[in-house]
Amino acid sequence: MLVRVIGAGVAGLTAAFEIARQGAAAGVSVELVEREARAGRGCSRYAGGMIAPWCELQSSEPIVAELGEEALEFWTRDVPVARVAGSLVVAPERERAELVDFSRRTRNFEALDGAGLARLEPDLAGRFSNALYFPREAHLDPRAAMDALTTLLAAMPNVALRFGEEAGGPADWTIDCRGFAARDALKELRGVKGEMLVLRSEEIALSRPVRMLHPRRPVYVVPRGDGLFMVGATMIENEERSRVTARSIVELVNSAYAIHPAFAEAEIVEMGSDVRPAYPDNLPRLTKRGRTLYINGLYRHGFLLAPALARRAARVILDDEFFPEVMDADQRERTDA
Ligand SMILES: Cc1cc2nc3c(=O)[nH]c(=O)nc-3n(C[C@H](O)[C@H](O)[C@H](O)COP(=O)(O)OP(=O)(O)OC[C@H]3O[C@@H](n4cnc5c(N)ncnc54)[C@H](O)[C@@H]3O)c2cc1C
Repeated sequence: MLVRVIGAGVAGLTAAFEIARQGAAAGVSVELVEREARAGRGCSRYAGGMIAPWCELQSSEPIVAELGEEALEFWTRDVPVARVAGSLVVAPERERAELVDFSRRTRNFEALDGAGLARLEPDLAGRFSNALYFPREAHLDPRAAMDALTTLLAAMPNVALRFGEEAGGPADWTIDCRGFAARDALKELRGVKGEMLVLRSEEIALSRPVRMLHPRRPVYVVPRGDGLFMVGATMIENEERSRVTARSIVELVNSAYAIHPAFAEAEIVEMGSDVRPAYPDNLPRLTKRGRTLYINGLYRHGFLLAPALARRAARVILDDEFFPEVMDADQRERTDA
């Protein structure tokens, strides 16, 4: 059986990996087709890489945390690129109510006072009097994660990688992972623009992602090593992919500065922007139409949700399973339509 996966973002790479390994014994071959010259040149390139299922409960449905827990295992065991150092949530003193609200909506955290925060992150000593610490959460560098997956796929005997090609040709199954480009077929998809910065500062040391709450300008900083920090991300209901605005940069830098003033002197290494593919309910879906399965709607949870969706996608096409948590009820009836 030949399975063609279209699109080598995080959805396509994880799907190709799961289908190839779950289908190897049954003689399944996987062809991964990407129109760019290499993997990870779409939206996945700009992700923060926070694998934070419990923090995401603040603004997401419980299913996001349930599926997201599978990512912790995937990115530490199957493709071991994540670091489990936990994550921190802080708020400026005048926004203390935001922290209380965050604690009510989330779980699996420890409440810290200023001294506890300073023990974990000495560079934040004296800056915040309260924090929430989620010790089991992880973070990864999305580009390194996609490179690692590409290397693993290249070494699998039943996988062919085709870069610089648009999709085409017959296959027994097509797995459509084109992200926002799939809107030609998935009319409900919308784009939620996100802008990010990469800053370099030798003066700041952080071991884990830090989220700072704010009613209008929440921000997070993810350490990438070698003095690099990803600062993200705007959330704008707008489908313009690549223009980074001065206003967004000012807001991101201001917020980073509120986490640590040394960010004011940091070098701007990169500015980037793309649109997150999202369904109206901001939840991901597997959509089966005949012999095509679409994996889409990863919204702000690409690295968090792709492993769980990929595992389920493999079982849908290999074993004809049905997963109500990510599939519409009518797909049960419309098999091979
Ligand atoms: C600023 C920002 C911050 C984010 N932060 C996080 C975060 O911290 N954690 C997290 O989990 N998620 C985060 N996200 C969301 C995450 O990036 C997305 O959910 C995810 O990248 C979507 O992945 P995808 O594989 O569906 O799409 P994409 O990464 O866009 O991949 C689609 C691929 O398909 C290819 N393609 C399109 N059409 C064709 C065709 N016809 N033929 C062949 N190839 C084709 C494209 O070139 C692309 O490589 C963030 C997003 C942004 C923008």
